[in-house]
Amino acid sequence: MKFEYSGLPSNVVFGVGTAEGHELTRRITEIGARRLLLVAAAADAALADPIADVLGNAVVGRFSDVAPHVPLTTARAARAAARACAADAVLSVGGGSTTGAAKAIALELELPIIAVPTTYAGSEVTPVWGLTEDGRKTTGLDRRVLPTLVIYDPGLTVSLPPALTVASGLNALAHCVEAFWAPGRNPITSLLAEEGMRAFAAGLPDVRRDPSDIEARERCLYGAWLAGVAFARAGSDVHHKTCHVLGGTFDLPHAETHAVVLPHATAAVMAARAGMHETGTRIATALGAGPDTPAAEAILAFAHGLDAPRSLAEIGLREIDLTTAIERVGDTLGKLPESPDATAADALVTAAYRGSLPSAEVEAS
Ligand code: NAD
Repeated sequence: MKFEYSGLPSNVVFGVGTAEGHELTRRITEIGARRLLLVAAAADAALADPIADVLGNAVVGRFSDVAPHVPLTTARAARAAARACAADAVLSVGGGSTTGAAKAIALELELPIIAVPTTYAGSEVTPVWGLTEDGRKTTGLDRRVLPTLVIYDPGLTVSLPPALTVASGLNALAHCVEAFWAPGRNPITSLLAEEGMRAFAAGLPDVRRDPSDIEARERCLYGAWLAGVAFARAGSDVHHKTCHVLGGTFDLPHAETHAVVLPHATAAVMAARAGMHETGTRIATALGAGPDTPAAEAILAFAHGLDAPRSLAEIGLREIDLTTAIERVGDTLGKLPESPDATAADALVTAAYRGSLPSAEVEAS
């Protein structure tokens, strides 16, 4: 065994109540932040307002014009808001879109971010930023956007509606699954991914049944953290690249696109690459399926049990766009070092469009 692992320097606080009261104030003071710009979507005011109340005068400005995929106009407005109040740190409260706006500020102004995530997107533990201009999303890696302090309070996720909980949970599950085969994988990222999958396997069905089940919410948020850390180190591959192209080109909803594509991307990778048997077994068993269950089938069964969206058609891809979708995904996947062939890209997108079962996984060797 030969590998290199370098952890990313973020400070994580986890637990119910960690985003409330004096504990929060103390933690923020400890990192030396005195003038906070609060970034929180207007829609998430019910989550952010109590936090702003606790912090009182330390919050010197507020930016709420958050939008998915961080349009350049949003990034510019967020930076202007930070400058206007002479912020020395950014406090983001919300999902991946909100964290993304905070990252856009940090990328240019080099302010530390304190992230309080309220979905399972995982952006708060990655150095990945994204900006969108004229419908094209650019992403990059920069340590300056990695939040300095992350506060995971499962109590803030109780209000996530069931459908969004499932889609966001499957988005995080996709970080875990892809971490098993992405280019930066190593034994540690696989361990994180496996534990993250187990946490979601145990937590998501219970949250689906009872969104206020706080122990199940804890398991899911814990899984989301592990998923984000595994993804941050392992990187993206067939699944994430496919979702990036489909979401960016056809403006499909982020988490739902991940939820639909994951079993199909898994089937494509399992069929195209050699030596995936152990990975398949780990994925299936982490989800509670038998060791001989093909990984794609285990994921599909798990997603269907949660009433997750099943097809790209269901989440807004039009049949008229299918040919373009196949071409663009094929072009992108063709640039990967271990690329599935063009037929596989076609099969992946077509199966995801229809929501049909992935073809049986055939191990390459
Ligand atoms: P989101 O942030 O757009 O939130 C989705 C919706 O959920 C919004 O309407 C929001 O107001 C609402 N919401 C959030 N938390 C809630 C709560 N607790 N209760 C009720 N409603 C709540 O969606 P997302 O899936 O969290 O993030 C998607 C974005 O994050 C995408 O732009 C994606 O590219 C990005 N992302 C980036 C990284 C990275 O490493 N840079 C990783 C994952 C995702």
